[in-house]
Amino acid sequence: MADIMITITCPVCEKEFKKKAKDLADGTVVKCPGCGEQTTIKGTMFTDLVKNLEK
Ligand SMILES: [Zn+2]
Repeated sequence: MADIMITITCPVCEKEFKKKAKDLADGTVVKCPGCGEQTTIKGTMFTDLVKNLEK
């Protein structure tokens, strides 16, 4: 699997940062590099992100 990068927008400071798709799964916690807010990747959220990639 290629290193597909998924862009995540922080819900707190709205900073965009990228994570490798293969490092993300339902329930993965990602930390915003801007404000340190931890966001849990939800199943539906992850699916939406992948769908956006496939467009
Ligand atoms: Zn943030």
